[in-house]
Amino acid sequence: MSLSTRDEKSIWHPFTQHHTSAPPLPIARAEGAYLYTQSGERLLDCISSWWTCLHGHCHPDIVAAIAQQAATLDHVLFAGHTHTPAVELAEGLLSAAPGFGKVFYSDNGSTAVEVALKIALHYWQNIGQPQRTRLAALEHGYHGDTFGAMAAGRGSGFFYSYSAVLPRVDILSPETPAIEAYFQEHGADVAGFLLEPLVQGAGGMRMYAPSIVDAWCAAARKAGALVLMDEVMTGFGRTGTLFAHQQLSHTPDVLCLSKGITGGMLPLSVTMTTEAVFQAFLGESFSRALAHGHSYTANPIACAAALASLRLFESGAPQRGMATIAATHTRCLPLLCAAVPGLTNPRQTGTIAAVDLPGDAVYGGAQSQAVRLACYKAGLLLRPMGKVLYFMPPYCVTSAELEQAYTTLAEILPAALTGGTDGR
Ligand SMILES: *Cc1c(COP(=O)(O)O)cnc(C)c1O
Repeated sequence: MSLSTRDEKSIWHPFTQHHTSAPPLPIARAEGAYLYTQSGERLLDCISSWWTCLHGHCHPDIVAAIAQQAATLDHVLFAGHTHTPAVELAEGLLSAAPGFGKVFYSDNGSTAVEVALKIALHYWQNIGQPQRTRLAALEHGYHGDTFGAMAAGRGSGFFYSYSAVLPRVDILSPETPAIEAYFQEHGADVAGFLLEPLVQGAGGMRMYAPSIVDAWCAAARKAGALVLMDEVMTGFGRTGTLFAHQQLSHTPDVLCLSKGITGGMLPLSVTMTTEAVFQAFLGESFSRALAHGHSYTANPIACAAALASLRLFESGAPQRGMATIAATHTRCLPLLCAAVPGLTNPRQTGTIAAVDLPGDAVYGGAQSQAVRLACYKAGLLLRPMGKVLYFMPPYCVTSAELEQAYTTLAEILPAALTGGTDGR
């Protein structure tokens, strides 16, 4: 029996409508910017395997760090215990992102966001000021798939089925006047304002200038609300700086990181806070402490992978890759738009480039699938989100490889776009 058939009999895939989607592609191995299918074809991973892979697949430094850590200390509960990988990683992150005081570990982007939301609400209770019970987030924001994260990411449009029971989060239009008006009216009740800085990822690769994001942060800060930044996707260089907020004049009070944190090899996330936020949780009673912790909090193997990934930035190689990718996008994206009629809204922030496909394609619809399958045939892993086609490659990709990907796309896209249309 083929692997696809066995998969079909046993597995329920993420974000997949099994009734209409093509069978999953069996991947046998990966190296650098490429994935290799079971039947031996090579695919250029143009989206870093859901935005996780930073330096390329199976990077030998990270592989070695994982192997060594797995043979030394596999896991220990993190309440009441600590270990070198967790401490060194926390120290490394605090020095890479100045302005923060403490690192709280969890396992994935969604939980990093849950932790941030809980910290914001609990903070106001702990400091004994009139309680702030509102949370605010942005239209088109996406923050993960757990309940708090879904509530904050309701504006991504993915979670209608759960809206009746989602916790309350105020969803603001990402426009400065609307945000200023909201904070003027309700700011004194807002515990925290959660946003993806510079690029809203899963909500459609929507990009905003630093000055605009700064204006939103200023409105929240003026009202005293904590600023919570979700850099689960934008972190670790995607926007051209190590963290997107480093292009802003505001440093957040709380920062969520995951996805690329381990270079894309193991699940791990952190919620970083300022020292002032941490201090608010100190006291004699446990009720002031943060009631949160996962079984695999600060797993040593994942921390060792993340530390190896962070050390790679010290070599300068990722930064050179980021600059190469950005320059290649700037050169090739206009050529793609000129070659394929109907493409609109080309945009770029650092290593992320996106364009809108013609029509009104829906997430997981026939058009996305037609484009994805045509790309596979041409050796590219690209996966439009609805009508948004984007590149977010690992930093090891060469300029020639990325340029070739654009050329190939320009050749195959016109036919692929007529291969499937979506009605709403
Ligand atoms: C992917 C993503 C998340 C959720 O992360 P998971 O690891 O998938 O739970 C949260 N926020 C942003 C901005 C993301 O891109």
